[in-house]
Amino acid sequence: MKRFASLIVALALGAAGLTLVTPTSASAWVSTGCTWDIVFVRYNISSGSWSPGINAWNAESIPRTYTSSPSDAVVGLGTLNNSSVSYDGIANWTCSSGTTTSATGRINTAYTSGYSSTKLRSLTVHELGHILGLDHPSSGCMIMRSSTSTRYGTCGLSTPASDDIAGVNAIY
Ligand SMILES: [Zn+2]
Repeated sequence: MKRFASLIVALALGAAGLTLVTPTSASAWVSTGCTWDIVFVRYNISSGSWSPGINAWNAESIPRTYTSSPSDAVVGLGTLNNSSVSYDGIANWTCSSGTTTSATGRINTAYTSGYSSTKLRSLTVHELGHILGLDHPSSGCMIMRSSTSTRYGTCGLSTPASDDIAGVNAIY
């Protein structure tokens, strides 16, 4: 649900606000302003069911591939258990001059313990979309809609929608 850019990201966005990629009128995707300059995005899963989300992105025709590589991962995927926050998942990333250099994703098990496998995939695909460089659109049925109740409940999405895929292809 949530995405959190580190301070360095916020500064980069502030400085580069006018150069952010913006969608055409036919789509609603939003860029974070950060993209990977590596094609194979190396990840490690410490806990949580992230693989279905990984597989969902890798099944699409996009210019980046999530690759399991625990020894030299640049993306750490895991879980937290915190009922004092409102989000069911979170992604963080750092980037410099628009290039993502590392990222983390967390499933908040305080809320997801009752999720079906499909609902959980909706969440992990969403967080992995942030790590690829997509932010929250304000309307439409896209995997990057912030709320799980909208994205999964209303829209029934647990894999990337066409506009999400168009967004990834546009920012790379
Ligand atoms: Zn989000």
